[in-house]
Amino acid sequence: MPKFRPAAKKKLKANTERPLPAGRAMKAALKLPNGRRVAGEIGEIVRQRAHAEAAIADARKSHERLREAIDILPQGIVILDADGRYILWNKKYAEIYNRSSDQFVHGARLQDTIRVGVERGDYPEAIGREEEWIAERVARLFHPGERHEQTLADGRVILIDERLTADGGVIGLRVDITELKQREASFRLLFDSNPVPMIVCAVEDERILSVNDAAVEHYGYTRAEFEKLTIRHLQAFEAESPWAGEKSTDEQAARTWKHVKADGSLIDLAIYSRLLRYGDEPAVMLALMDITERKRAEMRLAFMAHHDGLTGLPNRNLLRQRLDETLAHTRRTGEKVGVLFLGLDNFKAINDTLGHGIGDKLLRGVARRLRSTLREEDSIARLNSDEFAIIQTGISRPEDVVLLARRLLEAIGEPYLLDGHSIVIGASIGIAMAPGDGEDSERLLKNADMALSRAKNDSRGTFSFFESGMDARAQTRRKIEIDLRAAIQGDLLRPYYQPLIDLKTGRITGVEALVRWPHPERGMISPAEFIPVAEDTGLINVLGAQILRRACMEAAQWPDAVRVAVNLSPLQFRVGNLLSIVMDALKQSGLPAKRLELEITETLLLEKSSQVLATLHALRALGVRISMDDFGTGYSSLSYLRSFPFDKIKIDQSFVRDLGANRDAQAIVRSIISLGMGLGVTITAEGVETEDELACLRAEGCDEAQGFLFSRARPNAEIIELLRAQSIVPDVERAQVA
Ligand code: C2E
Ligand code: MG
Ligand code: MG
Repeated sequence: MPKFRPAAKKKLKANTERPLPAGRAMKAALKLPNGRRVAGEIGEIVRQRAHAEAAIADARKSHERLREAIDILPQGIVILDADGRYILWNKKYAEIYNRSSDQFVHGARLQDTIRVGVERGDYPEAIGREEEWIAERVARLFHPGERHEQTLADGRVILIDERLTADGGVIGLRVDITELKQREASFRLLFDSNPVPMIVCAVEDERILSVNDAAVEHYGYTRAEFEKLTIRHLQAFEAESPWAGEKSTDEQAARTWKHVKADGSLIDLAIYSRLLRYGDEPAVMLALMDITERKRAEMRLAFMAHHDGLTGLPNRNLLRQRLDETLAHTRRTGEKVGVLFLGLDNFKAINDTLGHGIGDKLLRGVARRLRSTLREEDSIARLNSDEFAIIQTGISRPEDVVLLARRLLEAIGEPYLLDGHSIVIGASIGIAMAPGDGEDSERLLKNADMALSRAKNDSRGTFSFFESGMDARAQTRRKIEIDLRAAIQGDLLRPYYQPLIDLKTGRITGVEALVRWPHPERGMISPAEFIPVAEDTGLINVLGAQILRRACMEAAQWPDAVRVAVNLSPLQFRVGNLLSIVMDALKQSGLPAKRLELEITETLLLEKSSQVLATLHALRALGVRISMDDFGTGYSSLSYLRSFPFDKIKIDQSFVRDLGANRDAQAIVRSIISLGMGLGVTITAEGVETEDELACLRAEGCDEAQGFLFSRARPNAEIIELLRAQSIVPDVERAQVA
């Protein structure tokens, strides 16, 4: 109980609404402090009394006015005296406690009213500890400024705010906060059990005030650890707080952030924030959506849009973009830019024969070597299966480009060891320079591409600069493709035949069919020009089958002893119906299989692909002979001899050409011939042009020769003549038939 305070009591008395008892007032007026009675002063006393009564009437009026005033307030108000007795209360106060105003008794002690309420069960919090609860409640009454909440039996929650008045009494406010409480409770529920991690932190210093279970689980910090942190501690990078600069706006669109989890890992978040009050503090509630996976997927997509999946190098799009930027820059500085197109030589053959797995590994290896040969500031991209492009900057002389081209070719040319295969692959490079060969990236890329075609056509394994006129050549090539298609459709291609001479007897043992294309405008076109086009476009299969069929038909008309050799492209093995094409050709023509020879090149055997070998064995089983053409030009010719029992080896004409001048060539030819003897394989020398070459080959014991010295390839009619002449003159001492 608060102490009774005399001064306060005096004041309280002046305010009291009870009138003074008449007898006591008289006594006070007539008795002087020294005890003497002073009759003459009665009039004065009466006056004073009238004055006091007027004052009381005034006070009563203002009391009434006060009561009226406080009755219209939305909060409950109660005024108690220093003893805790009711002096004044408003309607709302009575309403809150479910009573009418006159149910409260003036002068009654709040404590007693409360006790009645407790007994009636008005205060659920008091149940079971009634006395204690009442004592606490009364003690609170005289502790100024302490708000507290009270739950009533019907579930309403009342906020009680009580303050001491100057005379030691209490003025108390009652606010019904039931709705607020309900909102708060549903908010709590939404916050606590939300599956989205949520954090409430102070606007002022970003202290973390509250976190929900999802946040605890997601970040891995305990609640206690969280509460020692600020939101800034969570951020992976120093950055402004999620609500900085926008404290006035209540709600914000999502922003993305990077946070650190307890285990040190980083997560990407989209944060939605909302300003609110937490207790008395302005705070921000953050809903944290983990978008790490989504971000990663987006980044992967963005990367994939600009990079090649196999090698991880930039793709054509990114290259274009970079070239545009480089050109924009060098236009200002006047620097030179080189665009190098690099194409692998014979990559298709590796892919076809060794399989795509090894092909892919090879491309990755090439990409790595290219990358490591370049400087940081140069760009590289993979354009398509076996083509790469490089942007070279900082060029002071054209030689710089040549140096880079050489370095690149050298780097690629080193053998690759892949799954036990030692693979060697060459490359060709086409170069276009800016300024000069084109001002914009499209032109430059196109011209570099053209220069590459030129490098490939000329001789593989080299580089070639763009020259004006290449464009025309590229168009010619396109025209060849169109015309070739028409020629094949019209069955206009013809095999010409070049005799193969047995060097012991000097007789023609066979002829090689070499395709010829009589072009209506350009005359006879060489297969060296159109076979690569046929291979690039897939026309080779039809072309090959046509030539094979015709060669068999025509050879069937020749003397029995004469064989016909037909060239096969490695691509014809890829389609899978080669065997039936050969069988059909033999059947239709009636040519015995033993009179047919098929020439294949080493590229076909880069891999001992079981499918290729099976086809070769099946062909041989028919009785067809298999020759290895252009022997010695590939990378490991010798090892191929082991993989298949060839019937004939044709020494490439480059060795024959060098026979006179080059001792090494002689040694090579000699060893090929002795190898052939050892294996029991016929050795044919190609491209014999001179008597000296022939003499040399004879001396080394070569079996067969072919070349302009004897005859060029001739049309069927001429060959028939030649063969007839041979049968008439059986022993051509010097087989000079041309
Ligand atoms: P190849 O199979 O090595 O044919 C030999 C080539 O050397 C022929 O060129 C022939 O005319 C040429 N030649 C022959 N003797 C000499 C000589 O003494 N000196 C010189 N300098 N050259 C000589 P051609 O006819 O231009 O054929 C070139 C290549 O085209 C052939 O090389 C062959 O690989 C390919 N080819 C020709 N016809 C066909 C065909 O029907 N199918 C396929 N897939 N390829 C063919
Ligand atoms: Mg040949
Ligand atoms: Mg050849």
